[in-house]
Amino acid sequence: MITQNAILPAVSWLRRAACRGEDPELFFPISAKGPGHLQHERAKAVCRRCPVRRPCLDYALSTGQEHGIWGGTDPDERRASARREQDRRVSAG
Ligand code: SF4
Repeated sequence: MITQNAILPAVSWLRRAACRGEDPELFFPISAKGPGHLQHERAKAVCRRCPVRRPCLDYALSTGQEHGIWGGTDPDERRASARREQDRRVSAG
């Protein structure tokens, strides 16, 4: 999730982010369990209607974002995606 304070001039897609104006804490719950799980799901619902979901996820993966919801994914999902990509590269030689 991109907070208003973290806007990078070179990342032009941020202007179209569906999370602009949302409470940043929604995208950075303390835990993925209990009430935090509900926050994850609410944040992901915002991401599902976001027109820049793909570049957001690419940014998170390329910069190793370890916390928060980015591109509709939580940290566990991004780690799994990174592992799959690494496995794919190893298999491809
Ligand atoms: S995909 Fe989600 S976190 Fe990323 S810019 Fe869109 S609403 Fe924000």
